Amino acid sequence: MIRDIVIYGDQVLRTKGKRIEEIDDEIRALAGDMLETMYGASGVGLAAQQVGKALQLTVIDVSDAESRPSQMWIAGEEVDPKDHMPLILVNPELQLSEELEVSTEGCLSFPEITAEIARPGKVKVVAQDLQGNRLEFEAAGLLGRALQHEMDHLNGILFIDRMSSAAKASLAGRLKRLVAEHRE
Ligand code: ZN
Repeated sequence: MIRDIVIYGDQVLRTKGKRIEEIDDEIRALAGDMLETMYGASGVGLAAQQVGKALQLTVIDVSDAESRPSQMWIAGEEVDPKDHMPLILVNPELQLSEELEVSTEGCLSFPEITAEIARPGKVKVVAQDLQGNRLEFEAAGLLGRALQHEMDHLNGILFIDRMSSAAKASLAGRLKRLVAEHRE
């Protein structure tokens, strides 16, 4: 089932996700709906907050992003990220590399807004899958960026928080309108 995507201005986007202690039918159904919602919106990632649930759960699929490559390593061996998509990550934790890369980012909760964001180029991820198995891998490129963007959502952090103050200032009017348009 496709769920409504929460738009900027809603407090749930600022809420840190609760750790998932038990992966039950409700969580599995939510993860399935999140995948459907992400594909329906042509996104590469979606966090639980974006469908109104403040939980440590995110889904990612970079398979269709042909123009923006991703790299992935499991146990130090490089693998084809496409063989591991979609990713459904429960209670993920990230370790970030030092050096920063700047690239364009958007967010399904900020329709039509993109910005150049600096983020570490490589990440190490530890998470659980929907069966409760431990997942551990490293990622770079678009996948590395998507993981950091989604992890931020799980902590109530939004990509506008990572923009330069000049970029954010130039978006101020559009952000205000976005909040106003979606206020009931
Ligand atoms: Zn986002």
